[in-house]
Amino acid sequence: MKNLIQYAPCPQCGQSAAKKVSYTWWGGAVGPSMFTHVKCQSCGTQYNGKTGQSNQQNILIYFLVSMVISFCLCGGLVALNIILNNN
Ligand SMILES: [Zn+2]
Repeated sequence: MKNLIQYAPCPQCGQSAAKKVSYTWWGGAVGPSMFTHVKCQSCGTQYNGKTGQSNQQNILIYFLVSMVISFCLCGGLVALNIILNNN
C-alpha cells in the first residue's frame, strides 16, 4: 500500500501528479521542503505544492537572503581577521 500525498494541481497543465523535489541548486535540501517545492510528473513544471502557484518569488527571496547571510558571514570573518591582525 502506497499513500500518495496530494499536492495542488500543476499551474501549467492542471495535472495533480506531482512529486516532491528533495534537492535544488538554490535551496539545497532545506529550501524545497520550506516551500513545498514539487515537480509536475506530466510537464516537469516546478511549483509550490501547497498553493499551486509558482515558487519563483520564494526562490528569489530565499536565494537573496542566503546570499546576504553568507556575504555577512564572510564579511564578519574578514572584519574579525583585520581586528585580530591589528592587535
Ligand atoms: Zn504540469
